[in-house]
Amino acid sequence: MGIIFDIQRFCVNDGPGIRSTIFLKGCPLKCLWCHNPESNLRGRQLYCDWQKCTHCGNCVSACEYGVHQMVNGKHTIQFDKCTVSEACIKVCPNQALGIYGEEKEIDEIVAEVMKDVDFYDSSGGGVTISGGEPMFQFEFVLQLAKSLKEKNFHVCMETSGFAGTKHYEEIAPYIDLFLFDYKATGDELHQELTGVGNALILDNLKMLLSIGKKVILRCPIIPGYNLSEEHLKMIAAISKEGVQSVEIIPYHDMGIGKAKKIGSDLFLKEVRTPEQTDVEEWIEFMKANGGRCITQA
Ligand code: SF4
Ligand code: SF4
Repeated sequence: MGIIFDIQRFCVNDGPGIRSTIFLKGCPLKCLWCHNPESNLRGRQLYCDWQKCTHCGNCVSACEYGVHQMVNGKHTIQFDKCTVSEACIKVCPNQALGIYGEEKEIDEIVAEVMKDVDFYDSSGGGVTISGGEPMFQFEFVLQLAKSLKEKNFHVCMETSGFAGTKHYEEIAPYIDLFLFDYKATGDELHQELTGVGNALILDNLKMLLSIGKKVILRCPIIPGYNLSEEHLKMIAAISKEGVQSVEIIPYHDMGIGKAKKIGSDLFLKEVRTPEQTDVEEWIEFMKANGGRCITQA
């Protein structure tokens, strides 16, 4: 069994063709700009869609752990006290409450993604394993990747690169294409922005390329945080080291609403969303510094 929080069908941005993307829960990184904050915790967790909440107070009396409270007529939640008993969910008249995360057998997941096999075949697509950091549930993801390859799916994995090198070596034969993040240049800055250094990540990238794996480098660019000439030059340099291509992902604030749903304040408060012209300038700069196959995601 693994814990997943979504299976999205008909994805077109998670690798070639039309794909189904399986999102696994749990991640060892804490990127300040995370756009899937509901993936961070490995376990199941409560969420509240605040836009649906009418502050009726039904959940307050339903929860024996005191997670929900009414403060000056306003519903508040102490998420860290929640035991995920789900009693509150049943009494909410607006379906504002729910759980992120579900335990699933590999066979169930494979059966789900089989539904779209005709679309994968006609578009050159397949299945992408994402997260969170999928390698965080290593034994599960290894068996999942093996099962998907047994069915002859084209398998991509989106990864932060932060897991044991031996684990990447073990899973590599079952992954056709790695969508590999490169988040910041410099171990110290990487630590500051994501909670972990990047030495292991760079070692894993090198190892995957050395054994001939296909890798697309994915680079989130966050003005005021990881954007610098040094970083853009480093991306340009890596683009010449055997990766298939580089995708630049300009900052967007999609994660903020999701973070609020789970009571997290781990999100950036004052970032200017980059203009199209900014992204074009970055790409031009990288190309002028020898970068190849660099496009906007
Ligand atoms: S899931 Fe259970 S413990 Fe968590 S808030 Fe709801 S009733 Fe309380
Ligand atoms: S029961 Fe639903 S609508 Fe009522 S306060 Fe709780 S979350 Fe909001």
